[in-house]
Amino acid sequence: MRYLSTRGAAGTDFAEVLLGGLAPDGGLYLPEAWPEFSAKDLGALEGRPYAEVAFEIMRPFIGGAFTEEEFRADVQSAYASFSHPQTVPLKQLSSNKYLLELFHGPTLAFKDVAMQLLGRLFARGLEKLKRRATIIVATSGDTGSAAIAALKGQPNVDIVVLHPKGRVSDVQRRQMTTVLDSNVHNIALEGSFDDTQSIVKELFADRAFVSHVGLAAVNSINFARIMAQCVYYFTASIALKPAGRINFVVPTGNFGDVFAGEAASRMGLPIGKLVVATNANDILARALKTGIYSSGSAQATLSPSMDIQVASNFERALFEASGRDVGWVTQAMAAFSDSRRLAIPPGSLKELAERYLAESANDDETLEAISRAYQDYGVVVDPHTAVGLAVADKLELQSGAPVVVLATAHPAKFPDAAVRATGIHPELPPQLGDLLTREERCAVLPNAVAEVREFVLGRAKAA
Ligand SMILES: *Cc1c(COP(=O)(O)O)cnc(C)c1O
Repeated sequence: MRYLSTRGAAGTDFAEVLLGGLAPDGGLYLPEAWPEFSAKDLGALEGRPYAEVAFEIMRPFIGGAFTEEEFRADVQSAYASFSHPQTVPLKQLSSNKYLLELFHGPTLAFKDVAMQLLGRLFARGLEKLKRRATIIVATSGDTGSAAIAALKGQPNVDIVVLHPKGRVSDVQRRQMTTVLDSNVHNIALEGSFDDTQSIVKELFADRAFVSHVGLAAVNSINFARIMAQCVYYFTASIALKPAGRINFVVPTGNFGDVFAGEAASRMGLPIGKLVVATNANDILARALKTGIYSSGSAQATLSPSMDIQVASNFERALFEASGRDVGWVTQAMAAFSDSRRLAIPPGSLKELAERYLAESANDDETLEAISRAYQDYGVVVDPHTAVGLAVADKLELQSGAPVVVLATAHPAKFPDAAVRATGIHPELPPQLGDLLTREERCAVLPNAVAEVREFVLGRAKAA
Protein backbone atom coordinates (compact mmCIF):
# COMPACT_ATOMS: atom_id res chain seq x y z
CA MET A 1 0.00 0.00 0.00
CA ARG A 2 1.33 3.43 -1.02
CA TYR A 3 0.19 6.76 0.39
CA LEU A 4 -0.05 10.24 -1.05
CA SER A 5 -0.56 13.66 0.48
CA THR A 6 -3.74 15.71 0.02
CA ARG A 7 -1.41 18.41 -1.33
CA GLY A 8 0.31 16.23 -3.86
CA ALA A 9 3.48 14.66 -2.39
CA ALA A 10 3.46 11.03 -3.52
CA GLY A 11 4.83 7.61 -2.78
CA THR A 12 5.21 6.93 0.93
CA ASP A 13 4.74 3.70 2.86
CA PHE A 14 2.86 2.94 6.08
CA ALA A 15 5.90 3.26 8.36
CA GLU A 16 6.46 6.85 7.23
CA VAL A 17 2.74 7.66 7.47
CA LEU A 18 2.64 6.29 11.01
CA LEU A 19 5.84 7.88 12.30
CA GLY A 20 5.72 11.10 10.25
CA GLY A 21 2.07 12.05 10.84
CA LEU A 22 1.86 15.14 8.65
CA ALA A 23 3.13 14.94 5.05
CA PRO A 24 6.24 17.05 4.23
CA ASP A 25 4.16 19.43 2.07
CA GLY A 26 1.82 20.16 5.00
CA GLY A 27 -0.94 17.91 3.64
CA LEU A 28 -2.52 14.81 5.16
CA TYR A 29 -1.77 11.27 4.05
CA LEU A 30 -4.31 9.00 2.39
CA PRO A 31 -3.91 5.69 0.59
CA GLU A 32 -3.35 5.98 -3.17
CA ALA A 33 -6.31 3.62 -3.55
CA TRP A 34 -8.76 2.43 -0.90
CA PRO A 35 -8.73 -1.32 -0.22
CA GLU A 36 -12.06 -2.93 -1.11
CA PHE A 37 -14.19 -5.42 0.77
CA SER A 38 -17.01 -7.23 -1.03
CA ALA A 39 -20.29 -8.27 0.58
CA LYS A 40 -18.84 -11.78 0.69
CA ASP A 41 -15.68 -10.58 2.47
CA LEU A 42 -17.85 -8.80 5.04
CA GLY A 43 -20.08 -11.83 5.50
CA ALA A 44 -17.02 -13.89 6.40
CA LEU A 45 -16.36 -11.51 9.33
CA GLU A 46 -19.74 -12.11 10.94
CA GLY A 47 -19.58 -13.27 14.55
CA ARG A 48 -15.79 -12.89 14.83
CA PRO A 49 -14.24 -11.08 17.83
CA TYR A 50 -13.50 -7.36 17.45
CA ALA A 51 -9.72 -7.79 17.34
CA GLU A 52 -9.95 -10.33 14.53
CA VAL A 53 -12.22 -8.12 12.43
CA ALA A 54 -9.89 -5.20 13.14
CA PHE A 55 -6.91 -7.23 11.94
CA GLU A 56 -8.65 -8.19 8.67
CA ILE A 57 -9.94 -4.67 7.92
CA MET A 58 -6.62 -2.94 8.67
CA ARG A 59 -4.21 -5.50 7.21
CA PRO A 60 -4.21 -4.03 3.66
CA PHE A 61 -3.09 -0.64 5.00
CA ILE A 62 0.05 -1.98 6.66
CA GLY A 63 1.84 -3.25 3.55
CA GLY A 64 5.27 -4.58 4.45
CA ALA A 65 5.83 -2.27 7.45
CA PHE A 66 5.17 -5.07 9.96
CA THR A 67 4.85 -8.81 9.61
CA GLU A 68 1.39 -10.32 9.96
CA GLU A 69 2.43 -11.85 13.29
CA GLU A 70 3.68 -8.51 14.64
CA PHE A 71 0.57 -6.67 13.53
CA ARG A 72 -1.78 -9.34 14.84
CA ALA A 73 -0.04 -9.30 18.24
CA ASP A 74 -0.37 -5.51 18.53
CA VAL A 75 -4.04 -5.54 17.50
CA GLN A 76 -4.82 -8.33 19.98
CA SER A 77 -3.08 -6.67 22.91
CA ALA A 78 -4.50 -3.19 22.07
CA TYR A 79 -8.07 -4.44 22.32
CA ALA A 80 -7.36 -6.69 25.31
CA SER A 81 -6.94 -3.39 27.21
CA PHE A 82 -10.69 -2.74 26.86
CA SER A 83 -12.89 -3.64 29.80
CA HIS A 84 -15.91 -4.87 27.79
CA PRO A 85 -15.80 -8.36 26.27
CA GLN A 86 -17.22 -7.01 22.99
CA THR A 87 -14.69 -4.12 22.98
CA VAL A 88 -17.18 -1.66 21.41
CA PRO A 89 -20.68 -2.97 22.24
CA LEU A 90 -23.92 -1.77 20.64
CA LYS A 91 -26.68 -0.77 23.04
CA GLN A 92 -30.19 -0.78 21.62
CA LEU A 93 -32.27 2.23 22.73
CA SER A 94 -35.41 1.75 20.64
CA SER A 95 -36.59 -0.26 17.66
CA ASN A 96 -34.15 1.43 15.29
CA LYS A 97 -31.86 3.54 17.49
CA TYR A 98 -28.57 2.32 18.95
CA LEU A 99 -25.58 3.64 20.87
CA LEU A 100 -22.20 2.34 19.76
CA GLU A 101 -20.22 2.43 23.02
CA LEU A 102 -16.66 3.37 22.15
CA PHE A 103 -15.60 4.29 25.70
CA HIS A 104 -14.57 1.03 27.37
CA GLY A 105 -10.83 1.64 26.90
CA PRO A 106 -8.34 2.74 29.60
CA THR A 107 -9.18 6.49 29.45
CA LEU A 108 -12.94 6.21 28.86
CA ALA A 109 -13.18 7.93 25.46
CA PHE A 110 -13.28 6.65 21.90
CA LYS A 111 -9.74 7.88 21.26
CA ASP A 112 -8.43 4.78 23.04
CA VAL A 113 -9.69 2.66 20.14
CA ALA A 114 -7.07 4.15 17.85
CA MET A 115 -4.46 5.18 20.36
CA GLN A 116 -4.02 1.83 22.11
CA LEU A 117 -3.06 0.38 18.74
CA LEU A 118 -1.07 3.40 17.57
CA GLY A 119 1.12 3.43 20.68
CA ARG A 120 2.09 -0.18 20.15
CA LEU A 121 2.76 0.24 16.43
CA PHE A 122 4.73 3.41 17.06
CA ALA A 123 7.05 1.83 19.61
CA ARG A 124 7.52 -1.18 17.35
CA GLY A 125 8.20 1.00 14.30
CA LEU A 126 10.82 3.02 16.17
CA GLU A 127 12.49 -0.09 17.48
CA LYS A 128 12.81 -1.50 13.96
CA LEU A 129 14.45 1.71 12.77
CA LYS A 130 16.59 2.02 15.94
CA ARG A 131 15.15 5.51 16.40
CA ARG A 132 13.63 7.41 19.28
CA ALA A 133 10.93 10.06 19.09
CA THR A 134 9.36 12.93 20.98
CA ILE A 135 5.65 12.80 20.46
CA ILE A 136 3.85 16.08 20.86
CA VAL A 137 0.10 16.22 21.26
CA ALA A 138 -2.27 19.19 21.36
CA THR A 139 -5.39 18.06 23.15
CA SER A 140 -8.83 19.31 24.06
CA GLY A 141 -8.66 16.63 26.76
CA ASP A 142 -9.26 13.15 25.41
CA THR A 143 -6.47 12.66 22.88
CA GLY A 144 -3.84 13.59 25.46
CA SER A 145 -4.88 11.08 28.06
CA ALA A 146 -5.37 8.38 25.43
CA ALA A 147 -1.87 9.04 24.04
CA ILE A 148 -0.32 9.04 27.49
CA ALA A 149 -2.06 5.77 28.40
CA ALA A 150 -0.76 4.24 25.18
CA LEU A 151 2.84 5.50 25.39
CA LYS A 152 3.76 5.81 29.08
CA GLY A 153 6.86 3.84 29.97
CA GLN A 154 7.86 3.16 26.33
CA PRO A 155 11.67 3.22 26.30
CA ASN A 156 12.13 4.93 22.92
CA VAL A 157 9.51 7.69 23.26
CA ASP A 158 9.03 10.94 25.18
CA ILE A 159 5.50 12.28 25.16
CA VAL A 160 4.67 15.97 25.59
CA VAL A 161 1.01 16.93 25.91
CA LEU A 162 -0.39 20.47 25.74
CA HIS A 163 -3.89 21.05 27.02
CA PRO A 164 -5.69 24.42 27.27
CA LYS A 165 -5.47 25.40 30.94
CA GLY A 166 -8.80 25.25 32.73
CA ARG A 167 -10.70 24.08 29.64
CA VAL A 168 -10.64 20.34 30.28
CA SER A 169 -12.65 18.51 32.93
CA ASP A 170 -11.02 17.49 36.24
CA VAL A 171 -11.20 13.85 35.26
CA GLN A 172 -9.64 14.58 31.85
CA ARG A 173 -6.82 16.64 33.40
CA ARG A 174 -6.07 14.09 36.09
CA GLN A 175 -6.00 11.25 33.57
CA MET A 176 -3.02 13.10 32.08
CA THR A 177 -1.29 14.78 35.01
CA THR A 178 -1.37 11.82 37.41
CA VAL A 179 0.70 9.65 35.07
CA LEU A 180 4.15 10.10 36.61
CA ASP A 181 6.29 7.98 34.27
CA SER A 182 9.53 9.80 33.45
CA ASN A 183 8.76 9.91 29.69
CA VAL A 184 5.44 11.79 30.22
CA HIS A 185 5.50 15.64 30.19
CA ASN A 186 2.30 17.66 30.66
CA ILE A 187 1.84 21.34 29.80
CA ALA A 188 -1.20 23.43 30.74
CA LEU A 189 -1.12 26.21 28.14
CA GLU A 190 -2.63 29.59 28.92
CA GLY A 191 -4.77 29.63 25.79
CA SER A 192 -7.45 27.75 23.85
CA PHE A 193 -7.31 24.35 22.17
CA ASP A 194 -6.73 26.10 18.84
CA ASP A 195 -3.71 27.86 20.43
CA THR A 196 -2.26 24.49 21.48
CA GLN A 197 -2.76 23.25 17.91
CA SER A 198 -1.02 26.29 16.38
CA ILE A 199 1.95 25.91 18.69
CA VAL A 200 2.34 22.29 17.69
CA LYS A 201 2.10 23.30 14.01
CA GLU A 202 4.79 25.95 14.51
CA LEU A 203 7.10 23.47 16.22
CA PHE A 204 6.70 21.10 13.30
CA ALA A 205 7.67 23.92 10.91
CA ASP A 206 11.05 24.22 12.72
CA ARG A 207 13.11 21.62 10.81
CA ALA A 208 16.15 21.75 13.09
CA PHE A 209 14.03 21.26 16.19
CA VAL A 210 12.04 18.45 14.57
CA SER A 211 15.15 16.46 13.76
CA HIS A 212 16.91 17.24 17.06
CA VAL A 213 14.17 15.79 19.26
CA GLY A 214 12.66 13.43 16.65
CA LEU A 215 9.37 15.29 16.80
CA ALA A 216 6.37 13.17 15.81
CA ALA A 217 2.58 13.40 16.06
CA VAL A 218 -0.22 11.05 16.97
CA ASN A 219 -2.94 13.71 16.62
CA SER A 220 -6.10 12.90 14.72
CA ILE A 221 -4.36 13.88 11.47
CA ASN A 222 -2.32 10.65 11.75
CA PHE A 223 -3.78 8.32 9.16
CA ALA A 224 -3.22 5.28 11.38
CA ARG A 225 -5.92 6.66 13.67
CA ILE A 226 -8.43 6.91 10.83
CA MET A 227 -7.52 3.35 9.88
CA ALA A 228 -8.22 2.08 13.40
CA GLN A 229 -11.46 4.07 13.68
CA CYS A 230 -13.02 2.79 10.48
CA VAL A 231 -13.16 -0.70 12.03
CA TYR A 232 -16.13 -0.04 14.31
CA TYR A 233 -18.28 1.17 11.41
CA PHE A 234 -17.72 -2.30 10.00
CA THR A 235 -18.39 -4.21 13.21
CA ALA A 236 -21.60 -2.25 13.91
CA SER A 237 -22.89 -2.86 10.38
CA ILE A 238 -21.96 -6.52 10.44
CA ALA A 239 -23.68 -7.00 13.82
CA LEU A 240 -26.91 -5.22 12.85
CA LYS A 241 -27.28 -6.72 9.35
CA PRO A 242 -29.66 -3.88 8.54
CA ALA A 243 -32.44 -4.08 5.97
CA GLY A 244 -31.61 -0.51 4.90
CA ARG A 245 -28.40 1.45 5.08
CA ILE A 246 -27.31 2.49 8.58
CA ASN A 247 -27.15 6.20 9.38
CA PHE A 248 -24.27 6.97 11.72
CA VAL A 249 -24.48 10.05 13.93
CA VAL A 250 -21.01 11.18 14.93
CA PRO A 251 -20.26 13.80 17.61
CA THR A 252 -17.63 15.74 15.69
CA GLY A 253 -14.75 18.08 16.42
CA ASN A 254 -11.67 17.57 14.25
CA PHE A 255 -13.60 15.45 11.70
CA GLY A 256 -11.37 12.40 12.27
CA ASP A 257 -14.01 10.04 13.57
CA VAL A 258 -16.62 10.89 10.95
CA PHE A 259 -14.03 10.78 8.16
CA ALA A 260 -13.28 7.21 9.27
CA GLY A 261 -16.91 6.54 8.31
CA GLU A 262 -16.23 7.93 4.84
CA ALA A 263 -13.17 5.68 4.67
CA ALA A 264 -15.30 2.64 5.59
CA SER A 265 -17.82 3.49 2.91
CA ARG A 266 -15.09 3.97 0.30
CA MET A 267 -13.85 0.51 1.30
CA GLY A 268 -17.20 -1.00 0.33
CA LEU A 269 -19.32 -0.74 3.46
CA PRO A 270 -22.90 0.29 2.66
CA ILE A 271 -23.64 3.37 4.79
CA GLY A 272 -26.67 5.69 4.65
CA LYS A 273 -25.79 9.15 5.88
CA LEU A 274 -22.85 10.15 8.03
CA VAL A 275 -24.28 12.78 10.33
CA VAL A 276 -21.83 15.42 11.49
CA ALA A 277 -23.12 16.44 14.93
CA THR A 278 -21.46 19.57 16.32
CA ASN A 279 -21.97 21.67 19.42
CA ALA A 280 -22.28 25.47 19.30
CA ASN A 281 -18.88 25.51 17.55
CA ASP A 282 -20.67 24.76 14.31
CA ILE A 283 -18.09 25.60 11.63
CA LEU A 284 -18.56 22.18 10.05
CA ALA A 285 -22.34 22.20 10.17
CA ARG A 286 -22.26 25.64 8.48
CA ALA A 287 -19.68 24.53 5.92
CA LEU A 288 -21.71 21.52 4.87
CA LYS A 289 -24.93 23.53 4.67
CA THR A 290 -23.62 26.68 2.97
CA GLY A 291 -20.37 25.72 1.27
CA ILE A 292 -18.48 28.36 3.24
CA TYR A 293 -15.91 26.92 5.65
CA SER A 294 -14.95 29.83 7.85
CA SER A 295 -13.76 29.89 11.40
CA GLY A 296 -14.11 32.42 14.18
CA SER A 297 -12.96 31.82 17.74
CA ALA A 298 -13.77 28.71 19.73
CA GLN A 299 -16.38 28.96 22.45
CA ALA A 300 -16.42 26.81 25.58
CA THR A 301 -19.31 24.31 25.79
CA LEU A 302 -20.38 21.31 27.84
CA SER A 303 -18.72 19.06 25.22
CA PRO A 304 -15.14 20.44 25.34
CA SER A 305 -13.60 17.76 23.12
CA MET A 306 -15.59 19.26 20.27
CA ASP A 307 -14.72 22.91 20.99
CA ILE A 308 -12.75 23.55 17.84
CA GLN A 309 -12.80 26.09 15.05
CA VAL A 310 -10.45 24.38 12.63
CA ALA A 311 -11.30 20.77 11.80
CA SER A 312 -7.98 19.46 10.52
CA ASN A 313 -9.32 16.27 8.99
CA PHE A 314 -11.89 18.12 6.88
CA GLU A 315 -9.06 18.55 4.36
CA ARG A 316 -9.28 14.81 3.68
CA ALA A 317 -12.99 15.03 2.89
CA LEU A 318 -12.41 18.08 0.66
CA PHE A 319 -9.65 16.18 -1.15
CA GLU A 320 -11.93 13.23 -1.89
CA ALA A 321 -14.96 15.40 -2.73
CA SER A 322 -12.91 17.42 -5.24
CA GLY A 323 -11.98 14.22 -7.06
CA ARG A 324 -8.52 14.31 -5.45
CA ASP A 325 -7.71 17.67 -7.02
CA VAL A 326 -4.41 18.38 -5.25
CA GLY A 327 -3.99 21.74 -7.00
CA TRP A 328 -7.30 22.99 -5.67
CA VAL A 329 -6.73 21.56 -2.16
CA THR A 330 -3.28 23.17 -1.91
CA GLN A 331 -4.55 26.55 -3.01
CA ALA A 332 -7.73 26.35 -0.90
CA MET A 333 -5.86 25.39 2.28
CA ALA A 334 -3.31 28.17 1.73
CA ALA A 335 -6.19 30.64 1.34
CA PHE A 336 -7.85 29.25 4.47
CA SER A 337 -4.64 29.63 6.40
CA ASP A 338 -4.47 33.32 5.38
CA SER A 339 -8.11 34.37 5.64
CA ARG A 340 -9.68 31.61 7.78
CA ARG A 341 -12.25 31.24 5.01
CA LEU A 342 -12.66 28.74 2.19
CA ALA A 343 -15.40 28.44 -0.45
CA ILE A 344 -16.27 24.87 -1.45
CA PRO A 345 -17.01 24.62 -5.21
CA PRO A 346 -20.57 23.47 -6.05
CA GLY A 347 -19.46 20.11 -7.46
CA SER A 348 -17.55 19.20 -4.30
CA LEU A 349 -20.35 20.47 -2.08
CA LYS A 350 -22.83 18.24 -3.90
CA GLU A 351 -20.53 15.27 -3.44
CA LEU A 352 -20.22 16.04 0.28
CA ALA A 353 -23.99 16.45 0.61
CA GLU A 354 -24.58 12.97 -0.77
CA ARG A 355 -22.51 11.50 2.03
CA TYR A 356 -22.89 13.87 4.98
CA LEU A 357 -25.69 15.58 6.86
CA ALA A 358 -24.83 18.16 9.47
CA GLU A 359 -26.56 19.77 12.41
CA SER A 360 -25.52 21.44 15.64
CA ALA A 361 -26.92 21.31 19.18
CA ASN A 362 -26.26 23.97 21.82
CA ASP A 363 -25.71 23.38 25.54
CA ASP A 364 -29.43 23.60 26.44
CA GLU A 365 -30.26 21.01 23.81
CA THR A 366 -27.39 18.86 25.06
CA LEU A 367 -28.69 18.88 28.64
CA GLU A 368 -32.19 18.16 27.38
CA ALA A 369 -30.89 15.16 25.42
CA ILE A 370 -29.13 13.79 28.52
CA SER A 371 -32.31 14.16 30.51
CA ARG A 372 -34.45 12.57 27.77
CA ALA A 373 -32.09 9.62 27.33
CA TYR A 374 -32.38 8.97 31.04
CA GLN A 375 -36.17 9.27 31.10
CA ASP A 376 -36.84 7.31 27.92
CA TYR A 377 -34.14 4.65 28.05
CA GLY A 378 -32.73 4.72 31.59
CA VAL A 379 -29.28 5.52 30.17
CA VAL A 380 -26.94 8.26 31.42
CA VAL A 381 -24.90 9.60 28.50
CA ASP A 382 -21.96 11.99 28.39
CA PRO A 383 -22.43 15.47 26.83
CA HIS A 384 -20.63 14.59 23.57
CA THR A 385 -22.83 11.59 22.99
CA ALA A 386 -25.77 13.81 23.95
CA VAL A 387 -24.95 16.22 21.12
CA GLY A 388 -25.28 13.21 18.82
CA LEU A 389 -28.62 12.19 20.33
CA ALA A 390 -29.94 15.76 20.13
CA VAL A 391 -28.94 16.03 16.48
CA ALA A 392 -30.41 12.61 15.67
CA ASP A 393 -33.75 13.85 17.00
CA LYS A 394 -33.58 17.10 15.05
CA LEU A 395 -32.96 15.50 11.68
CA GLU A 396 -35.43 13.53 9.69
CA LEU A 397 -33.41 10.44 8.96
CA GLN A 398 -34.86 7.86 6.58
CA SER A 399 -37.38 6.00 8.70
CA GLY A 400 -36.90 2.29 9.15
CA ALA A 401 -33.13 2.30 8.61
CA PRO A 402 -31.15 1.94 11.84
CA VAL A 403 -29.60 5.03 13.41
CA VAL A 404 -26.36 4.39 15.27
CA VAL A 405 -25.16 7.22 17.50
CA LEU A 406 -21.48 6.97 18.39
CA ALA A 407 -21.13 7.16 22.19
CA THR A 408 -17.73 8.78 22.34
CA ALA A 409 -17.12 9.12 26.09
CA HIS A 410 -18.09 7.49 29.38
CA PRO A 411 -20.47 9.75 31.37
CA ALA A 412 -18.11 9.72 34.39
CA LYS A 413 -15.53 11.58 32.33
CA PHE A 414 -17.85 14.63 32.25
CA PRO A 415 -19.97 14.14 35.37
CA ASP A 416 -21.15 17.76 35.79
CA ALA A 417 -23.44 17.65 32.77
CA ALA A 418 -25.05 14.41 33.97
CA VAL A 419 -25.60 15.85 37.42
CA ARG A 420 -27.21 18.99 36.00
CA ALA A 421 -29.50 17.07 33.66
CA THR A 422 -30.44 14.04 35.76
CA GLY A 423 -29.25 14.59 39.35
CA ILE A 424 -27.19 11.42 39.00
CA HIS A 425 -23.43 11.45 39.55
CA PRO A 426 -22.01 8.79 37.21
CA GLU A 427 -19.31 6.72 38.91
CA LEU A 428 -15.85 6.12 37.57
CA PRO A 429 -15.18 2.47 36.78
CA PRO A 430 -13.22 0.63 39.52
CA GLN A 431 -9.81 0.88 37.82
CA LEU A 432 -10.03 4.70 38.05
CA GLY A 433 -11.69 4.90 41.46
CA ASP A 434 -8.78 6.74 43.17
CA LEU A 435 -8.11 9.15 40.28
CA LEU A 436 -9.28 12.24 42.15
CA THR A 437 -6.76 11.76 44.97
CA ARG A 438 -3.65 10.83 42.98
CA GLU A 439 -0.59 13.15 42.81
CA GLU A 440 -0.47 15.48 39.77
CA ARG A 441 2.50 16.79 37.76
CA CYS A 442 2.10 19.54 35.16
CA ALA A 443 3.89 22.70 33.96
CA VAL A 444 1.88 25.88 33.30
CA LEU A 445 3.25 27.79 30.27
CA PRO A 446 2.20 31.02 28.50
CA ASN A 447 0.76 30.88 24.99
CA ALA A 448 4.17 31.29 23.32
CA VAL A 449 5.94 28.86 21.04
CA ALA A 450 9.42 29.81 22.31
CA GLU A 451 8.62 28.78 25.87
CA VAL A 452 7.15 25.48 24.75
CA ARG A 453 10.22 24.80 22.59
CA GLU A 454 12.53 25.44 25.57
CA PHE A 455 10.45 23.17 27.78
CA VAL A 456 10.62 20.32 25.28
CA LEU A 457 14.37 20.75 24.78
CA GLY A 458 14.84 20.58 28.53
CA ARG A 459 12.78 17.43 29.04
CA ALA A 460 12.94 15.22 25.96
CA LYS A 461 15.96 13.09 25.15
CA ALA A 462 17.64 13.88 21.83
CA ALA A 463 16.69 11.59 18.94
C1 LIG B 1 -12.27 13.77 20.23
C2 LIG B 1 -13.68 13.60 20.65
C3 LIG B 1 -14.74 13.88 19.78
C4 LIG B 1 -14.51 14.45 18.39
O1 LIG B 1 -13.86 13.54 17.55
P1 LIG B 1 -13.15 14.06 16.21
O2 LIG B 1 -12.50 12.87 15.62
O3 LIG B 1 -12.19 15.13 16.63
O4 LIG B 1 -14.24 14.62 15.34
C5 LIG B 1 -16.02 13.63 20.22
N1 LIG B 1 -16.26 13.15 21.46
C6 LIG B 1 -15.27 12.89 22.33
C7 LIG B 1 -15.60 12.39 23.67
C8 LIG B 1 -13.95 13.09 21.95
O5 LIG B 1 -12.96 12.81 22.81
